Amino acid sequence: MRNIAILGSTGSIGTQTLDIVREHKEIKITALAAGSNIELLEKQIREFHPKIVCVYHENMAMKLREKVKDLTITIVSGMDGLISCATEGEAEMVVTAMVGMIGIRPTIEAIKAGKDIALANKETLVTAGHIIMPLVKEYNVALLPVDSEHSAIFQALQGEAHKSMKHILLTASGGPFRGRKLSELQNIRKEDALKHPNWSMGQKITIDSATMVNKGLEVMEARWLFDLEIDKIQVVVHPQSIIHSMVEYIDGSVIAQMGIPDMRLPIQYALFYPERIDLIGGKQLDFTTLKQITFEEPDMDTFFGLALAYEAGRNGGSMPTVYNAANEWAVARFLENKIGFLAIPTIIKEAMKNHKRIENPSLIDILNVENETYDFVKEYAESEFKYKP
Ligand code: NDP
Ligand code: MG
Repeated sequence: MRNIAILGSTGSIGTQTLDIVREHKEIKITALAAGSNIELLEKQIREFHPKIVCVYHENMAMKLREKVKDLTITIVSGMDGLISCATEGEAEMVVTAMVGMIGIRPTIEAIKAGKDIALANKETLVTAGHIIMPLVKEYNVALLPVDSEHSAIFQALQGEAHKSMKHILLTASGGPFRGRKLSELQNIRKEDALKHPNWSMGQKITIDSATMVNKGLEVMEARWLFDLEIDKIQVVVHPQSIIHSMVEYIDGSVIAQMGIPDMRLPIQYALFYPERIDLIGGKQLDFTTLKQITFEEPDMDTFFGLALAYEAGRNGGSMPTVYNAANEWAVARFLENKIGFLAIPTIIKEAMKNHKRIENPSLIDILNVENETYDFVKEYAESEFKYKP
């Protein structure tokens, strides 16, 4: 029996994790958490019988309590509620599948409670990697990547020594606007940006993929997960999304992990690591029909959000938090049709320019920098992009 808690159970990663759990009766769900989707949470509660559930917004938590009053279950809310779900006694592993920096504190508390982490929530490591990684060591827990690229790198590293690693080659599909120039991105609408060629994901990460900020976040995530300098992590555009990333070793060997784009594969690998098991309903890669796999250099002038991620990563300290918070704010406003597509990387750039970097930010510093960044970018967008709250 393996007991797991899922934070973000109603999202793209959360529901795909539950698809796997449904096929494996040896996994027991101890806790679930989401933002506000209580209709789906109720269904998940009745199917998977967790002991405790968090709905971040208390008014929605009250409604959920009413809906499931026939069951013996604890419904909690807010950050304290998320932390209760992350630290609940029976869970051995916590799947962090929430979107955004809200994942930092629950992840830290889960590690301190001795839980292994299956990490999808990349914003956590981007902003607080310098706090999380030492804690993982101190509490001797496993941190297993769920992001497909990082799972691929992790798989390519099995049995290898860290000192043999020369480069990480992080693949990127290039998103729906690959090949376009800046002038052609001027009038991109939300509907166009939400069409990812290869992956079906939550809205925020889909926009991040269209701006290539997602790849930038992944470069910074990889820097912490695999303890490699940022400039040894190279982005390679590979539109077919068959190679999920590669590791180049000092002898010149390159080990890649390949597969059909299906997030259930990296999720399942994290849940059952080090065992490999049949992926029920998973498709096989067919090399007889796979016509070509191609590679390109990323266009960092057009997708300058990616170039800014390298800059933020090289700067380190509190700069990745500014990068991430500015992006979270801008993507949310783009999804509300309040700012344009290119405003997203522009806002990140200005926020970074404005910021006075803190060398080794504490958790409190990170949360303060997050709020200061929101204040700055709101004002900036009001004056430059006629943004109205
Ligand atoms: P979704 O938007 O599909 O889901 C987000 C989840 O987070 C939902 O369950 C949502 O609940 C929950 N949530 C949002 N706000 C809060 C909150 N304040 N408190 C508690 N829960 C909250 O996102 P994805 O599943 O696509 O992505 C999740 C994370 O995984 C992101 O960090 C993303 O970058 C990463 N990731 C995703 C991949 C993918 O294929 N989707 C691939 C690799 C990484 P509710 O539904 O109630 O709003
Ligand atoms: Mg990814």
